[in-house]
Amino acid sequence: MSEVKQHGRRRATGPSSHEFAPSAGSRRDALAAERAGASSQGGLSHLLRTGIANGAGQKVGIALAATGLALAVTVPSGTSMSLASADLESPAASESVVTAAANIPITFATPVLGTALNQDGQLRETLKVKASNVTAQAAKGTLSAPLKTLDESSPFGARINPLTGAAGEVHTGQDFAVQCSTAVFAAAGGTVTFAGWHQYGGGNRVVIDHGNGLSTSYNHLSSIGVKVGQKLERGDQVALSGTTGASTGCHLHFEVIVDDATVDPKGWL
Ligand SMILES: [Zn+2]
Repeated sequence: MSEVKQHGRRRATGPSSHEFAPSAGSRRDALAAERAGASSQGGLSHLLRTGIANGAGQKVGIALAATGLALAVTVPSGTSMSLASADLESPAASESVVTAAANIPITFATPVLGTALNQDGQLRETLKVKASNVTAQAAKGTLSAPLKTLDESSPFGARINPLTGAAGEVHTGQDFAVQCSTAVFAAAGGTVTFAGWHQYGGGNRVVIDHGNGLSTSYNHLSSIGVKVGQKLERGDQVALSGTTGASTGCHLHFEVIVDDATVDPKGWL
């Protein structure tokens, strides 16, 4: 994963800028404080130990007594099979052996891929190792969009300050253009570790800890709808977008934080 360290601190007395980019030291302190708050809430370890096992298929054997055929079908856990089209003749329907006339086709529902459930399972599998050790391939797609529509504006990484022209600034997140007071959603399930005013320019800010070193943050919000310690599911509304803090227009500054350092959010979306 690419990780760009911040060098240098913007002068507090300088012109207001579109984005905030605090020094590495102050930023790490702030993130560490946020994480300390998280640990007192018990963290997310329980989320990693419970839930539906991901990936392992559930084998279902069906013997077709009428034809003598035996089928072994693999379906994802949690996916129910529909045999409604079969003309079941005996009360043994609730058992594993199902009888059906030979000329009646039996169809199996195709699992719906890309659902929130599958994405949650993918993230749980991915975070069995520390977030800092997750490969780019494994990370891709494990977080979902924090807005209904993603309209990318300023990207993550080194850039020239759009207002001062100064070089050497690191943009710590991905910006999405969006009107103020638009719903902002949790990119994955987790626990709120920060909800309030961000002293380094983020304005109204929410941070969600997803476990094992992975957090996301949502900045410049006009209002916040969650509290520290609150458990969230993927897609839960956490706030309304805004332009608070070091911002000159309505947008969402979205960060992905791995072990207290920001990384490119697009690597996880
Ligand atoms: Zn930004």
